[in-house]
Amino acid sequence: MLTAITGINWGDEGKGRMVDLLSSRYDIVIRYQGGNNAGHTVVNDKGKFILNLLPSGILRDGTVNVMGPGMVIDIEHLAGEMKRLTDQGIKITPDNLKISDRATICMPYHKLLDVLEEDRLGDAKFGSTRRGIAPVYADKYMKKSFRIGDLLDFEYIKKRMPGIIEWKNLTVHKGYGHEPIKAEDMISWLETYGLPIKDFICDTTQYLTEEIKKGKKIMFEAQLGALRDIDFGIFPYTSSSSSIAGYAPVGAGIPGEKLDDVCGIMKAYSSCVGEGPFTCELFGDAAFELREAGGEYGAATGRPRRVGGFDVPASKYGSLVQGATYIALTKLDVLSFYKKIPVCVKYDVDGVLTDKFPSGDKLNRAKPVYEYLDGWGCDISDCKKFEDLPKAAQDYVKYIEKAVERPIKYISVGAEREQYIEMDI
Ligand code: GDP
Ligand code: MG
Repeated sequence: MLTAITGINWGDEGKGRMVDLLSSRYDIVIRYQGGNNAGHTVVNDKGKFILNLLPSGILRDGTVNVMGPGMVIDIEHLAGEMKRLTDQGIKITPDNLKISDRATICMPYHKLLDVLEEDRLGDAKFGSTRRGIAPVYADKYMKKSFRIGDLLDFEYIKKRMPGIIEWKNLTVHKGYGHEPIKAEDMISWLETYGLPIKDFICDTTQYLTEEIKKGKKIMFEAQLGALRDIDFGIFPYTSSSSSIAGYAPVGAGIPGEKLDDVCGIMKAYSSCVGEGPFTCELFGDAAFELREAGGEYGAATGRPRRVGGFDVPASKYGSLVQGATYIALTKLDVLSFYKKIPVCVKYDVDGVLTDKFPSGDKLNRAKPVYEYLDGWGCDISDCKKFEDLPKAAQDYVKYIEKAVERPIKYISVGAEREQYIEMDI
């Protein structure tokens, strides 16, 4: 059984929370793209955890976690995250964490270049998390990056480092005028943070192939939503990796495998971190009350998130490109304060109404068309069955199901592990 669990919207849909819930049904959880640029928040019986790099299955005893070849890994950040979790009582050993030897290392100069470029852009900045993700993916495709497996062979690193640093300094030093990077500093950085993770490094493709033969159940965990995918998202305000489910087997290191199903995580309203078109955006008091109700501040950065009502064109498109077989609708409880719930039902693009999600500059010109659905005005966070929900909440769920043309299998009504409703579909 191979299941991808992916975001439908702009990210922060509650993927970490859903993976934490569903991971008990799987033997292995794999992260297949991205780096520490996003954050998942998980609240369970062990406490509250923020994960940037580690798969969410790390919080469950007996689940094996894999960091796949599609990832870019800042090993200094990884060391910090492993320490934080260990201090919180989580056991991390080579038995429950395996890091692909083919994953790419995000170096300190990638972070530096991210900062230098965002600062250079000033007001035209991309709103990057400044964690080096775009520069490291660029280097990967330039074939001038280091891979996790290289940490097992420092002679190889030492051989390649001077040439790569000479090339990097053409931009860092000669281009941006920053002081030059030194090869020996980078080698000692790799030694400091690489040596402690040596035992976790392996050929995860071999490992997973054997486990699949044994019939193990596998979950692929995406870190960003569909609308941040490099090809299908709101380019250029996307991430630099493929976050869609279709890429999951590739980025996980088992490119010959096919997914059995795709669980699309969709939020009952919208939020977006950083720059870029966000058609359904609410402003002023309307934004403030929704942001406060939903606690919409970034897990990785603490930045206030932009918020809006549920966005039909964007969510329908997100479900389509993810190939979602079913939906997990999250944060429905957040809407309980509304008398009338704002929903962006269509876009107005140059005077034409559409429920299709546009690309390019058309998306920048799109204006939201809002309608208002009945609110329920009471706490729903203890509801365990669909029938327990007030009629207006049931109608809201059914409205969304129809709008995105996918069945809703889970409804999350709170951040804690057991605060959810499972539907028969
Ligand atoms: P991710 O990046 O998709 O994993 O999502 P984040 O962790 O960045 O943001 C989701 C936030 O909403 C976290 O703080 C979760 O604890 C919280 N959360 C998830 N599901 C629910 C829910 O159903 N209700 C409420 N109130 N909070 C939720
Ligand atoms: Mg997040």
